[in-house]
Amino acid sequence: MSIVVQKFGGTSVGNADKIRNVAQAAIKEHRAGNQVVVVVSAMGHTTDYLVELASDISKNPSSREMDMLLSTGEQVSISLLAMAIQEAGYDAISLIASQIGIITENVHSKARILDIKTDRLTKHLNEGKIVVAAGFQGVTMTGEITTLGRGGSDTSAVALAAALNAERCDIYTDVDGVYTTDPRIVPKATKLNEISYMEMLELASLGANVLHPRAVETAKQFNVPLRVRSSFKHDDLGTLIIGVDLMEIYKPVSGVAADLTQVRIAILKVPDAPGNAAKIFGSLAEQNVSVDMIIQSYETPDKTNDIAFTVAQSDFNKAITILEEVKSQINASKIIVDKEIAKVSIVGAGMIDRPGIASDMFQAISDAGINIKMISTSEIKISCVVEKERAHDAIKALHTKFNLDQTDVIATVAE
Ligand code: ASP
Ligand code: MG
Repeated sequence: MSIVVQKFGGTSVGNADKIRNVAQAAIKEHRAGNQVVVVVSAMGHTTDYLVELASDISKNPSSREMDMLLSTGEQVSISLLAMAIQEAGYDAISLIASQIGIITENVHSKARILDIKTDRLTKHLNEGKIVVAAGFQGVTMTGEITTLGRGGSDTSAVALAAALNAERCDIYTDVDGVYTTDPRIVPKATKLNEISYMEMLELASLGANVLHPRAVETAKQFNVPLRVRSSFKHDDLGTLIIGVDLMEIYKPVSGVAADLTQVRIAILKVPDAPGNAAKIFGSLAEQNVSVDMIIQSYETPDKTNDIAFTVAQSDFNKAITILEEVKSQINASKIIVDKEIAKVSIVGAGMIDRPGIASDMFQAISDAGINIKMISTSEIKISCVVEKERAHDAIKALHTKFNLDQTDVIATVAE
């Protein structure tokens, strides 16, 4: 018998009717002859509500108590879902992470999973039960409750699928799959039938809000076939995320993404001496500030260079405090900040070994009359920073340039 892991997010279990709908999706998979584990998040905006409640009590609550609090949201939804499955005439049992044995490192609020015990899960599955597992939470070796970070239920589901050697992990959500770009910005966006782990990883970390990047990373590492599909259309197969070798890459670019949550920072006239870059980025890393798109200029005759990079808006205040301090230590002249930026990126495993993709990207952006402020590339991704105001125009231009518009896809198929 194959094991299938299903995951439903907060909106999919937002009320009693929706919970009954999820019960039906689980029962359908069970009736198809599979052993089913359903992972759910907290109902609706429960987690946000709990965070708010905590902030009414304390400005700086301890992360241990936050985990105690936030993990309760999932206990509510799993018990209700198990009841709904039972009510429909099928056997089910709900389990929180400590009952399963989802062991994490000893870090509160963003713990990583170290190991998952499968004995109890397997026992209940063999008894013919549908197992309803709490997402987002874990337990340390010493029995402390942890959480995996906001949006962490995707990761719980994939890790459970990996531990159980499941046939696949289906992530049910309020969109019906992964699109070439955000359909709200580009109505001609196309749903992808398949995409590789690598590409999805890039898109997920670029703010294509479909999947938690850590979930994709785990799926890739353990080769778990992942499906993103609609909570409301159970017959729609959505998008399959798999290893690249299974696919024929006929397009250089699979998707276009925009990230509007970054800020550009430049430090001017950094003395051109060994150790200064290490000092700047080391200090940021020490305080857990991630940096993206670093650019250093060619050194000037006065032996200085400018260093520019981007950070997440949420880290901005922290970053500036650190950088003001570093600036005086290394004797740089000035820090300048640009908040009105967007990072637009093209992603595609098919761009490996295909020259000309970068210049096509720059041409499309320039044809749209948009100025490029920064550029960075990786093996399967090219990103440009542009003015925030023009981000949507850039996305549209790139979507058309790389033949991703829906009519083009139909034309390709018809040829
Ligand atoms: N309930 C948690 C959150 O809202 C986990 C999740 O939704 O994946 O972040
Ligand atoms: Mg959520």
